[in-house]
Amino acid sequence: MDADSILNQPAVSLKGIGGQSVSRLEKLDIYQVRDFLFHLPLRYEDRTRIQQISHLRAGYTALVCARVTSCSISHHGRRILNCQISDETGLLNLRFFHFTAKQHNSLSTGTLISCFGEIKEGYSGFEVIHPDYKIIQSPEECLIQDSLTAIYPLTDGLRQSTLRKAANQALDAYHNAPDNLPDLLPITLLKQYQFPSLQTALTTLHTPASELSTANLSGTHPALKRLAFEELIAHQLSQLQKKSTAKHWQAPKLAENPAHTQKFLSTLSFQLTQAQQRVIAEISRDCSKGNPMLRLVQGDVGSGKTVVSAYAALLALSNQYQVAIMAPTELLAEQHLRNFSLWFKDFNTQITYLTGQLKGKKRSQALLDIADGTAGIIIGTHALFQEAVNFSRLGLIIIDEQHRFGVNQRMALRDKGQTENSKPHQLIMTATPIPRTLAMLNYADLDISIIDELPPGRIPVITRAIPSDRRDEIIAKINAWVAQGHQAYWVCTLIEESEVLQCEAAEDSAQYLAESLPNIRVGLVHGRMKAAEKEQIMLAFKQHELDLLVATTVIEVGVDVPNSSLMIIENPERLGLSQLHQLRGRVGRGTNDSYCLLMYKPPLSNTSRERLNILRETSDGFVIAEKDLELRGPGEMMGTKQTGQMQFKIADLERDAGLLDSVSEAAALIQKDHPENTQALINRWLGTTTKYAEV
Ligand code: ADP
Ligand code: MG
Repeated sequence: MDADSILNQPAVSLKGIGGQSVSRLEKLDIYQVRDFLFHLPLRYEDRTRIQQISHLRAGYTALVCARVTSCSISHHGRRILNCQISDETGLLNLRFFHFTAKQHNSLSTGTLISCFGEIKEGYSGFEVIHPDYKIIQSPEECLIQDSLTAIYPLTDGLRQSTLRKAANQALDAYHNAPDNLPDLLPITLLKQYQFPSLQTALTTLHTPASELSTANLSGTHPALKRLAFEELIAHQLSQLQKKSTAKHWQAPKLAENPAHTQKFLSTLSFQLTQAQQRVIAEISRDCSKGNPMLRLVQGDVGSGKTVVSAYAALLALSNQYQVAIMAPTELLAEQHLRNFSLWFKDFNTQITYLTGQLKGKKRSQALLDIADGTAGIIIGTHALFQEAVNFSRLGLIIIDEQHRFGVNQRMALRDKGQTENSKPHQLIMTATPIPRTLAMLNYADLDISIIDELPPGRIPVITRAIPSDRRDEIIAKINAWVAQGHQAYWVCTLIEESEVLQCEAAEDSAQYLAESLPNIRVGLVHGRMKAAEKEQIMLAFKQHELDLLVATTVIEVGVDVPNSSLMIIENPERLGLSQLHQLRGRVGRGTNDSYCLLMYKPPLSNTSRERLNILRETSDGFVIAEKDLELRGPGEMMGTKQTGQMQFKIADLERDAGLLDSVSEAAALIQKDHPENTQALINRWLGTTTKYAEV
């Protein structure tokens, strides 16, 4: 085969890769020969020098050259082949739990072997279990290699040696025809960041020179950094590209109807803030064009995102289009239903509510109304993108608290309204501010609006951290608080994976509190209650038929009861800062002082203390998000561990956080000076995963 085409051949074209390996290799993202080059070693073994037995250390791997001094089988419950070897400096035991008679015979006294393995502390000195060994005639034959030996990540049914041989063949092919895998980072960038060329980087990582220690090849080595950098740039370029291709789609032109706007604004019981007006203008401008809007509205809890989205809905309605509003929880969907019903009561439009709970006749009626266009506003949970749902003229999709949804869910809803060449507009809202660097990388295809102003009259919530052994004091405080006519929340947190345990904890707390506070009306909501039941309790709380609401973190999003201005959060150390900030956003909505008491279990670790301090010191969601990123790392921040939104081959957002700032600058430089590299970079790094990334 022609050297310069090998890299692009399927993996099976390499020696040693059979047809049965294909599906296994695909699990490792290896399809073509070139993919072996980007499948980097996990770690390395040093077979570049022979070590004297007296110099061995437990826990390290070593290559030894020595003669057999004894070899026998012992029977401790099972048969074990024990073999002792010696160089001039000491003795080493070798043990085999699986062996053949032939093997036993070949290891006769005096035989010279080269032997590699991990040194362990045994009963009688150092030992190696199942060493990798070879019988040799003279010490010169001892298999010394001139580079460190790469150990690759494997998958079931693939051998280390198979991968190693394949990687070496791929590397040879690359060296023979380097132009087949061109360096896509311009030389100016490499110089600026002192990164090696692609060829140097890949060669170093697969076959590192012996003087590079394994530790040196960790995440900070320029060879690895360079690849991570290239990958991040490719992701950034792909986002930018999507943004520009989105412009090729058509979307309904939603012109503003001044009379409708007037009527809508006069229904509101408040004046819009400057920030809300600005964002509304941005949305209005987007929707009036014939291309789909894809806009993310970020605004702190309580900044008034709902009414902004209602204005967008009005644009759709004014132009005889339907609007779908998707919320992550029923509680929140119900609240939107109430608000929208109020704000659109004079508009003679049908609002249809659709959640997973809706069954039977009501559900079929809702589906009919959605399909024939009777329903103008459709509010619901993820039930909205189920197959049975067909919209008649969907013009706008509003997604609230977007970080709660997986990418695929968002895409499914968007596909709903899509016709041959037209897509609905999309408005996405989030109260979890996305730190700038992450936003650039992951949401570069969205336009972003920020509501950076709270409605007037909001007083910052006074936040205190109190150890849980002062629980009685806190309970007394609730008593006094309620006696003054206020209401309060008590939030139970628990390991998030277990909703059952979390609900049980809330039930226990509710019972305890009801017993300790006999004069107070205590209610309970948690995620495992029926929607109707939750609704009833929430309504009772809103109408002040309850004084204290015990809840799990289900109330995190959306709940709005201004008279409730005291919140106790149990075990706040279990939650992320942004989540705590969201919870706290439930209070401070009225006109009197509000409190948030973080009731932690002592003793607090230093990090936990630092985290709670941040909450006490600031009420700025963006500052909190930045700190959250610093303390917890981006994976958790973005909830990507669940959604699989950002999948990298080599880059690791935590490890490579220091690179993020330079990524968009570098991407811009490539777009400007080397536009021909853009598509090549995207293909190289995202070739098989692009379908994920579209929001
Ligand atoms: P979030 O941004 O957290 O979704 P909401 O939309 O739920 O916030 O708004 C929080 C509360 O503030 C609601 O009671 C809402 O009616 C009210 N609100 C929204 N905008 C204003 C405003 N401009 N002036 C006064 N209150 C407002
Ligand atoms: Mg909201």
